[in-house]
Amino acid sequence: MSVKVVVNGYGTIGKRVADAVAAQPDMELVGVAKTRPNFEARMALDKGFPLYVLAGREPDFKNADMEISGTVDDMLKAGDIVVDCTPGNIGAGNKPVYDAADIKAIWQGGEDHELAGISFNAHSNYDDAFGCDYARVVSCNTTGLSRVISTLDAAYGIEKVRATLCRRSADPGDIKKGPINAIIPELKMPSHHGPDVTTVMPHINIDTIAIKVPTTLMHLHILNMMLKQDCTTRDVIDVLGENSRIRFVGDGITSTAEIMELARDMNRPRSDMWENCVWDASINVSDRELYLFQAIHQESDVIPENVDCIRSMTETERDGAKSIRKTNKAMGL
Ligand code: NAD
Repeated sequence: MSVKVVVNGYGTIGKRVADAVAAQPDMELVGVAKTRPNFEARMALDKGFPLYVLAGREPDFKNADMEISGTVDDMLKAGDIVVDCTPGNIGAGNKPVYDAADIKAIWQGGEDHELAGISFNAHSNYDDAFGCDYARVVSCNTTGLSRVISTLDAAYGIEKVRATLCRRSADPGDIKKGPINAIIPELKMPSHHGPDVTTVMPHINIDTIAIKVPTTLMHLHILNMMLKQDCTTRDVIDVLGENSRIRFVGDGITSTAEIMELARDMNRPRSDMWENCVWDASINVSDRELYLFQAIHQESDVIPENVDCIRSMTETERDGAKSIRKTNKAMGL
């Protein structure tokens, strides 16, 4: 029997989660919820996704000639689990609604860890969410960091991580955020990103600093780690190469722009790059100290993680590695 999934909030993350869920053989997408009757709502209908709306907004959709299946409350009755993809800090207000509907809930990285009590990354802590009613899939940056850190921690142990995050200023479709001609340092040192990694892996000693740069394509991380065990640069390349959600980039790729071009050439939907893109040429280990550069596609790296989180919470698959393989296969990763 397939798990019935509903998606509340159909923007950058929600529409990608909906497509990924619809592609899974063991899941069924039974509804998506929109606030406004815009082009994204029209696309959801074109894809055959049942469309639900906030109570009171029905006339807006009727006037736009869009057929709706009911309100968010109706949608919650149809699902086993809801993936909340509303904007950051809005999702927390939905918790009483989900509780009243007696439905399991996943939130995104814009919400606080305390809301769900479990923060999730498939390679790092799949088992922690098993059978749980609530979980939070961590942000794009935390997902990117957690994949590399958990992989190297399992192989060599990690004494200390220091990471500098060059954060994209807005998503490509966003017309409201910036900067468009400035670099903004995050003055809180260390930044909040390091503590966020410890919501997934509490034993990791990590400090992060962050700057915002005028680009929309991807984040770029400069990672520096002190490992517990001796190893070579080759060893690290081999270990990271085993992680299916880490992709090495080279072949003349010297920038995030070329990574996005690669995603387009691969015919990835929306030019999504679900994997961390690590420049293998940047990996360098000397006296247990490791350096590397990675690029993170903020719009899409969390999508396969949401799918695995659904399997863990609904007890559809006990083994995290198997879930990761199923998700990857269905998404074409
Ligand atoms: P978004 O603004 O692109 O989409 C949010 C959608 O929710 C919009 O369609 C909006 O109309 C709708 N919405 C607003 N209020 C709602 C409500 N009360 N009920 C139902 N729908 C409502 O936002 P996003 O970028 O997709 O972010 C969603 C979550 O994912 C946030 O927690 C964010 O921090 C997190 N996240 C975002 C990114 C990213 O780069 N965009 C990456 C990782 C995680």
